[in-house]
Amino acid sequence: MKDISLKQGLISIGVALAIFWISPLLFSEPVDTYALVSDTLIDGISENGLNNKVVLVKKNVISDIVPVTEIPPNAIRIDLPGTTLMPGMINAHEHPMIFRHDYQNAHLEASSAYKALLGLSNLQNLLLAGWTTIRVMGDADVYYAVQDLKRIIEEGVFWGPRLTGAAHYISVTGGGGDINYLSLEQNVIADGLIVDGVDEIRKAIRQEIKYGSDWIKIMVTGAFMSVGDHPKNVSFSPEELAAAVTEAKRQNVPVAAHAHATEGINQAIISGVRSIEHGSFMNQKSIDLMVKHGTFLVPTIYVGDYYALSGKLREQTKNDDFYLSFRDSWLQLIGKAHRSGVKIAVGSDLCGPMVESTICAREFATLIEAGLTPMATIKAGTIVGAELLQWDDRIGSIEVGKLADIIAVLGNPLETIEALENPVFVMKDGQIIKNNLGR
Ligand SMILES: [Zn+2]
Repeated sequence: MKDISLKQGLISIGVALAIFWISPLLFSEPVDTYALVSDTLIDGISENGLNNKVVLVKKNVISDIVPVTEIPPNAIRIDLPGTTLMPGMINAHEHPMIFRHDYQNAHLEASSAYKALLGLSNLQNLLLAGWTTIRVMGDADVYYAVQDLKRIIEEGVFWGPRLTGAAHYISVTGGGGDINYLSLEQNVIADGLIVDGVDEIRKAIRQEIKYGSDWIKIMVTGAFMSVGDHPKNVSFSPEELAAAVTEAKRQNVPVAAHAHATEGINQAIISGVRSIEHGSFMNQKSIDLMVKHGTFLVPTIYVGDYYALSGKLREQTKNDDFYLSFRDSWLQLIGKAHRSGVKIAVGSDLCGPMVESTICAREFATLIEAGLTPMATIKAGTIVGAELLQWDDRIGSIEVGKLADIIAVLGNPLETIEALENPVFVMKDGQIIKNNLGR
């Protein structure tokens, strides 16, 4: 009996000592704040880079921005020496499930499940490359797999960027979203959603919204990489365009208009679309209309450069000289549009299996070539993109209260814009996705 009491006594003393020893861990404030310490901060709002600004992240929110001397003692300090911290990049025009340069053949060969799996991998690579938010502009899938990707990422089953956008691009028969190179008796389902006339457009838009698209994407004109149509041709009539925008607006869903041909661009703006995608043959009237209607422009320049200069377009598609013949005047008009007050957002278009995800940020350099300042291009890929998405209350800048989508790049991108091609640190929603500096 005596031995047992002695043992029990010793055990009790041991437990008491253990509790005493770990009590500071149990009762002090939990460590749930990161302090991100870099050389420079681009906050997405200021006109210059800022020094001596440490970004504090509590859970998934930016909780404070303080001088280095005021880092709370319980914060986990993440040192990112030699870097610039900036908002996560917003890619306003992307197709994560489209693959192969002859993407229409690829569409016919691959199941929706295959495209979804490939798309998930692609989205993860985009996030690692610093794109924390992606607007999908239709995805060459018969079903709605892109909505499943969005859901599974939001549920936390897989990690990936924030997603918004349209599951399909809506096209007329024979337009840029149709398969125009097979014989009539080959009854295939096209990569786009094919509609003709006002009633079919309304129905397609209702279906898109029913299955989760939070944007409507319409192919107002022909496209560059599809077969059997032409970017200088206008597909939709003004009546069809007006019906599309009216139907989407009634359900508070914005419309993005793929448009190259001048008349298509101008008609789409007048109809009230929220963004013009590409805008290759825009003119002064297009700029005036965009200013008047507050329309955003997402030019996606680098993807055109990539294809024209790499010779990767198949012979069946439009030839490279055609693109190069208008490129310079197009870039001049993009610069002019920017100076006139048109809001320009960054979109990479075919980033992933086609244009490597690590070089898609070259879009920023092409916007500088068009006449935007380095800071204006960074804003185009952050806060302006957030405004386009109507998410600027949540993302797009490093401000207290916003969601913690933050990246760090080596050096200063205001001096070397190529730094954006290789972020060394990526945080999405307060979660560290990548930290190459490992501190
Ligand atoms: Zn596109």
